[in-house]
Amino acid sequence: MKKYLFLVLILWLSACQAAELASPATPTQPPPPATPSPTHTPTLTPTSTFTATVAPTHTPEPVFEVCSPLEDETIESLPRILVNPLEIPPNFGQDTGHHGVDFAYYQRADRTSIEGIEIYAIMPGLTVLPLTDDDIPYGYALMLETPLSYLPQPLQDRLLAGYLPVPEDPHYRLSCPEVTLPERTDSFSIYHLYAHMQASPAFTRDEPVRCGERLGTVGNTGYSSNPHLHLETRLGPSGAQFESMAHYEVTNTPDQWGNYCLWRMSGYYQLFDPFLLFDAVE
Ligand SMILES: [Zn+2]
Repeated sequence: MKKYLFLVLILWLSACQAAELASPATPTQPPPPATPSPTHTPTLTPTSTFTATVAPTHTPEPVFEVCSPLEDETIESLPRILVNPLEIPPNFGQDTGHHGVDFAYYQRADRTSIEGIEIYAIMPGLTVLPLTDDDIPYGYALMLETPLSYLPQPLQDRLLAGYLPVPEDPHYRLSCPEVTLPERTDSFSIYHLYAHMQASPAFTRDEPVRCGERLGTVGNTGYSSNPHLHLETRLGPSGAQFESMAHYEVTNTPDQWGNYCLWRMSGYYQLFDPFLLFDAVE
């Protein structure tokens, strides 16, 4: 008898467990209607289901663009106002000669001076160094950086072919203070410096600049005897960090001197003729 009762108990317990397990899978409620009732206010379809089906967008290749650096001048007219073409760059460690090209005129069309006319970015880029004190040699100036990869491949190759090995020790003719040297890298950028502006540039660091964007106006600040635009183009390691820059003057700081040496004499940032860029788009 005990055995029989025990068996009944086991069977009953098993049936209860089976019913409990089965209950979630067998709904007792009728399924919801397939279409909402007419009084139901539809909610907006989540956009995630839409965006998931959108084809990936492609970033368009940048179109190589070079702009005239001066108001009322075109790329083609620039040679007519070039008063100082690029000289043969000095040896590394030396600061002789003129580093860059100068544009100037006394009389041109209705103008009686180049002073005050607008200066524009020759390529899109990022601001690297605004020089906001009227120091020797550049006066009020602005340096921009454009990745070398922005240029067409043949022009990249041409510039890199002219880039000489950076010396371990450039034997500075000036006794340059120690500065942090850039990393030796395969990533290069073009640096373009616009000097002797009329006023302190209204830019901070790392600001994006469009090709042809107004940077300031032509002036006579810094080491300059007549109003002109000094345009200095160099090829060097990407990501330059210049906190400041100025020539050896007692009023300037060792940090300014160090960056001056790094920029002009170390061999990391090597001069090239900006007409390589201008001629590429003619
Ligand atoms: Zn110059």
